[in-house]
Amino acid sequence: MDSPFPSVPQSLVTDGWDPVAQNDIDAFKRRLFSHLKHSRAKNPETATSNDWYQVTALAVRDMLVETWMDSVRAAAHADSKQVYYLSLEFLMGRSLESNLLAVGMWDVCLATFADMGLDFGGIKTEEPEAALGNGGLGRLAACFMDSMATLGIAGVGYGIHYHHGMFRQEIRDGQQIELPENWLTHGNPWEFERPEYTHPIRFGGWVEQGQDALGRPFFRWHPAEELMAVAVDMAVPGYGGFSANSIRLWAARASHGFDLVQFNKGEYLDAVRAEVDSESLSRVLYPNDSTQQGRILRFKQEYFFSSASLQDILRRFRREQDDDFDLMPQKVAIQLNDTHPAIAVAELMRLLLDEHHCPWADAWTICKGVFSYTNHTLLPEALETWPVAVFEALLPRHLQIIYDINAVFLAEIRQLRPGDDDLVRRMSLIDESGERRVRMSHLAVVGSHHVNGVANLHTELMKNGIFADFEQLYPGKIVNKTNGITPRRWLNQANRPLARLITHSIGDGWQTNLDRLRALLPLADDSAFRDEFLSIKQANKRRLALFASRSLGAVIHPDSLFDVQIKRIHEYKRQILNVLHVITRYNRLCQRQFRQNVVPRTVVFAGKAAPGYVLAKLTIRLILAVADVVNRDPRSRDALRVLFVPNYDVSTAELIIPAAELSQQISTAGTEASGTGNMKLALNGALTIGTRDGATIEIAEEVGEENLFFFGLSADQVAATVRDGYDPWAIYRDNHELAEALEMVRNGAFSPGEPDAFKPLFDSLTSGGDRYRVLADYGDYIACQDRVDAAYLQQGDWTRKAILTVARMGKFSADATILDYAREIWDVHGTSPYALGEQRN
Ligand SMILES: *Cc1c(COP(=O)(O)O)cnc(C)c1O
Repeated sequence: MDSPFPSVPQSLVTDGWDPVAQNDIDAFKRRLFSHLKHSRAKNPETATSNDWYQVTALAVRDMLVETWMDSVRAAAHADSKQVYYLSLEFLMGRSLESNLLAVGMWDVCLATFADMGLDFGGIKTEEPEAALGNGGLGRLAACFMDSMATLGIAGVGYGIHYHHGMFRQEIRDGQQIELPENWLTHGNPWEFERPEYTHPIRFGGWVEQGQDALGRPFFRWHPAEELMAVAVDMAVPGYGGFSANSIRLWAARASHGFDLVQFNKGEYLDAVRAEVDSESLSRVLYPNDSTQQGRILRFKQEYFFSSASLQDILRRFRREQDDDFDLMPQKVAIQLNDTHPAIAVAELMRLLLDEHHCPWADAWTICKGVFSYTNHTLLPEALETWPVAVFEALLPRHLQIIYDINAVFLAEIRQLRPGDDDLVRRMSLIDESGERRVRMSHLAVVGSHHVNGVANLHTELMKNGIFADFEQLYPGKIVNKTNGITPRRWLNQANRPLARLITHSIGDGWQTNLDRLRALLPLADDSAFRDEFLSIKQANKRRLALFASRSLGAVIHPDSLFDVQIKRIHEYKRQILNVLHVITRYNRLCQRQFRQNVVPRTVVFAGKAAPGYVLAKLTIRLILAVADVVNRDPRSRDALRVLFVPNYDVSTAELIIPAAELSQQISTAGTEASGTGNMKLALNGALTIGTRDGATIEIAEEVGEENLFFFGLSADQVAATVRDGYDPWAIYRDNHELAEALEMVRNGAFSPGEPDAFKPLFDSLTSGGDRYRVLADYGDYIACQDRVDAAYLQQGDWTRKAILTVARMGKFSADATILDYAREIWDVHGTSPYALGEQRN
C-alpha cells in the first residue's frame, strides 16, 4: 500500500497504548484524566457532565481504534470479498454503552465512576442519539452493522452524514410538535472526518454523443452543477473485540473549483450562497416513514450518497485489482436497503461505461453480479417512482442508461413471452400510465442477482403481488431473509439485570449465539428462577414509572399490567385500534359492576408521526386526550392509565422494552413487512398480542401459539374483504360497544372545547371505507384482550410463558439473519470465532 513511511517501526505504531486490563480502575482513570487535560483542556473541578461523557468516549475510542485498524488491514491483506450495505438511514442510538460492552470495559468504567463519586447514569445520557433514521428500516441497518462486525464479515455501511437527524418530538397543548435535532452541537467523539476521501457529485447539464477515432459511439456528460461528498467514518466494533467494521457517512460540501469563476468576477456573496446550497444536501433526514414524498432534494440525496459510495467502492476495488472489473462480483457485494439507493445500478453502469470504458454487456453482467436488493414494504404509497422529467433535468446520462437497460430487458421478455404486450407494459422500468415515471423497484430488481423480502409472509406476498411477473420469469431470484435484532443492544445492554440472571443461570455465550437461550427452557418450571425473573421485570417497571413521574409528571402503577405499543404512528399499524380498546375499557369501568376484579392496566404509547401526516398526528392528539380523561376520572384511574412517552427513539426503546409485559403488534395482516419491535419486546419477556402479520407469525412458530395472543383477520381474509366488498357501517351497527367508543371519538367526548376535533378519524374508519380494516378486527381484539386479563391473573403461568418466549427467540438474532445473507446472497463468510461457531450448528 501507498504509505509514505514504509519503514516506520511497528513498535511506534502500537506502543503507548498498552491495553487497560478489564479490572484496572487506576489505568482507566489515568486515561480519563489524560483526555480531560489533553483533549478538553479542563480540570476535574471545572469538568461538566458533558466533559466526562466526552473523555469517556475518547478513552473507549482509543481502545476500539486498535481492533478497528487491525481489522481493516487484515481484510485488505486477505483480499477478501467486501460487503457494502447502502442505506439512506442508520438509526444507531447512543454508542458509549454499546462500545464499552463490546470492548469489555463496562464494569471497569462503572467502578471507576463509582470510585470517583460520579453518577455514570447522568454521564451516559449526555450523549445525543445518532438518530439518522426514521424507524425499523434504519434500525435494521444498525443491527446488521453490529452483526457483521461481530461475525467478522468485512464490509462498510454507506449512508449520509445528516446534520439534523430525526426530529425531536415534543408535546405542546396536547399535540406533537417537531423540533430540529442538533446532535452535533458538542461535537461527535465517535467520528473521523476524512477529507482525503472526497468524491465529486454532479447534476444537470446535457449529454454529448459522438464517435471516437475508431468509430465507436461515446457519451460525454456535461453537468451544470457540482458538489463534493466528504467521508465521515465511525467504527463499528464487533462484540468481544475480534473484529470491527466502518460506517462511512457522506457529508455534502461545496466544490470550490466550480465557483472560482464567480469568486473571480467579484460575486463573492453569490458564490458563498452556492456553498450554502451545496451543503443543504446533507442538511436533514426526511422524516417520512413508509411514504414517498417526491421532493427534488430527496432525489438528490439518494443520488449523492449512491454515487459517492460507488466511486469509493471502485476506488477500493481498483487499489487491489486495478482495472480487472470482471473480478468485481468475486470481490464486491452491494446490498441495497430498499429502493432509496436503486440509482446505484445506473451509476455503476455510468462509471464502468463512461469513465472506465467497459463494453456495455460486460458492465451489465458486472452490475447483476454485485447488486442485491431488499424490499421493505408493499404499501403502494411507499414504492418509489420518479418522473422522467426529473431525471432529464438532473441525471440526463442516467436516464439514457436506464432506457438502454430497459430496452435490453424488454427484448428479453418479448423473447420469453412473445406477443404479451401487457406483460411488457407491467414490467417496464418506465411507468407509462400517466406522467412517465421511472420505477425504482424495477430498476433494483432487474439490476440485482437476488431480491429479498424481510419475513416469510412478506416474501410470499411479494412473489404473488407486486413482483409476481418477475417471480414467474426469474424463479429463485426472490428469496426470504427474515429480519433480526442484535441481542447485544436489545438484551445484554438494555436489560442488564435480565442479562446477568441469564448468564448466571446458563453461562456466557448467548450474546453471540442466541440459540443458547434454549437452556432456559427447563427453568420456566423452576419457581426460584421464576421469582427472580419476575422481580427483574418488576424492577424494570419501577424504573419506567420513576422516569414517568420525574420526567413527564405522570403517575403509573408498577403493579398494573404494562401494555406497550411503541413504533411509528401510522394508519397501517393501527394505534387507533388500541385506543378503541382503551375507550371500551374506560366505558366498562364507568359502570360499577365492571369495577370488581379488574386487572389494572397501564397502556404505554410512544411514536412519532411524519410532520405532514394529518391522521397520524391526530391519532397522537387522541391518545393524549383519552389519557387526560381516563387518568383523571376516579371511576377508572385506579384500574386504567394511559401514558404517552414523547420522542420515541432508540434510547426510549431501551427504557420501555425491558418494562413491557404485553407487546402490541396489531397491524392489518399483510401490511407490516416484518417488524423488529415485536422481536425486541419478546426477547425481553413480553407476551405478544397481535395479528398474523410479518415476523410475528414466525415468532409464534418459535414460541408456540399457546404463548401468545393472536386475533383478527389473516392476510388472505383481508384480501377477501377487498375482493368481495367491505362495509364498516354494518360492523358499526352490529357492535354496541364499538359504536359507543366511535361516537365518543366523533362527538367530542375527548375534546369538549372542540367537538369536531377527532371527526376525521371517525370518518376515515366509517364513510372513508376503513382501509385498514380496524372495525373488522375490533370485536376479536376486545375478546382477545379479555383473554389477556384472564391469563395475567395466573401470575405463575404468565411468567412461565414469558420465560419460554425468551428462551425460544434465538432465530431472531440478527447474527442468524446476516449469516443467511452471507451464505445465500453475498457468498462470503465470517472470520470471527462466533461465525465459525454458528456455522457449525
Ligand atoms: C425497533 C425500532 C423501530 C421499529 O419498530 P416496529 O415495531 O418494528 O415498527 C422503530 N423505532 C425504533 C427507535 C426502534 O428501536
